[in-house]
Amino acid sequence: MYATHLVCKGCGSEHPLEARFACDRCFGPLEAAYDREAIAAGVTRELIESGPSTLWRWESFLPVRAPGRGLPVGNSPLIQADRLAAELGLDCELYVKTETSNPTHSFKDRVVAVAAAKSVELGYEALACASTGNLAGATAAAGAALGLPTYIFVPSDLEPEKIIAAAAYGATVFVVDGTYDDVNRLCSELAYDRPWAFVNVNMRAYYAEGSKTIALETAEQLGWRVPDRVIAPIASGSLYTKILQGFEEGRSAGLLDDGPDPVMHGCQGAGCAPVATAFAGGSDQVVPVKPTGIAKSLAIGSPADGVYALDVARRTGGSIEAVDDEQIVEGISLLAAATGVFTETAGGVTAGVLRKLAERGEIGAGETVVVYITGDGLKTIDAVRPVVRTIAVSPDPDDVDAALERRLASTR
Ligand SMILES: *Cc1c(COP(=O)(O)O)cnc(C)c1O
Ligand SMILES: [Zn+2]
Repeated sequence: MYATHLVCKGCGSEHPLEARFACDRCFGPLEAAYDREAIAAGVTRELIESGPSTLWRWESFLPVRAPGRGLPVGNSPLIQADRLAAELGLDCELYVKTETSNPTHSFKDRVVAVAAAKSVELGYEALACASTGNLAGATAAAGAALGLPTYIFVPSDLEPEKIIAAAAYGATVFVVDGTYDDVNRLCSELAYDRPWAFVNVNMRAYYAEGSKTIALETAEQLGWRVPDRVIAPIASGSLYTKILQGFEEGRSAGLLDDGPDPVMHGCQGAGCAPVATAFAGGSDQVVPVKPTGIAKSLAIGSPADGVYALDVARRTGGSIEAVDDEQIVEGISLLAAATGVFTETAGGVTAGVLRKLAERGEIGAGETVVVYITGDGLKTIDAVRPVVRTIAVSPDPDDVDAALERRLASTR
């Protein structure tokens, strides 16, 4: 393992690789640090290519050894989306990285795989999490696979698909009367005096590292190239910032050719857009909001990595955009019809932002653009219910023909 310690993003102080909620000097967030020179000396493309076809292929970039058990996570498809590009009038190489292939159908399986492996290594006997939706299922499934009791905390306004799935894995699910930010605060209190590994609270430094694998995987799938432009959703801002870090670490290891950072676009739903608002206002401060809107998996009103996300957008010449509920649903429908990928509302946010950037003419000809689709449409089926149509017929071919005629006439 190349990870050496945890470092505070606030004051730079160093801490051992243990379960820690925050820096005990300044309360800043903690992050895993690595022996970068040893990685550059020891890790080659050949070594990676001979590794497992899961996220543990990237073990050298993770703060825990591959556990040898647990669900197979990662290696999600990178789909070239020519028809979507054409539909948007884009003359670029457009790709959709589709995280719906993970065991619980979202990118959260990656962060949980890393946090759960570290929790086992540190001797924890229970997993827990504060979830905006997808983390609930991912943590519950990981707990079931590893044989650990699992405690899930979710806000009460969550999609039932996500709550029921988490409970089906046998997890103990607490439905909290409050927002995600209330749930997160509750879990921070609980984590103090309970022997539970909260994957995104006291294990957050390890959890966050899992997101780097989505970038490293993308680069390998592109033939060891870094894309020119990235479009990715923001809830806490962790995934978005770790995607850039993944590309940077792949370069510093000598796996990827040097070049400019990708232009990083972050995406939020207008009902919960504190980072997009700060970006638009030129501010360095993210002012907390009370979330509304259909993009519930992104509904973090007080995002832990919001200021770092602002820095990533500004440093790379990118932006942080917001789209409203109507644009989210349009994004879901556009992506589904033009690529065959059906995404949940978070992916609708990303697709909506892609369309917005295309309309603004920001995406150049010949660029390699990667759009991250982080969750499955079957989990937020109510979002599209109002915009889809079905036709009731009797089991009679004539009835089908007549219905088709009527439908043609109505759309003419
Ligand atoms: C959690 C989540 C995200 C983003 O999470 P961050 O907290 O910003 O890392 C994006 N998409 C989906 C579907 C999610 O569940
Ligand atoms: Zn500190």
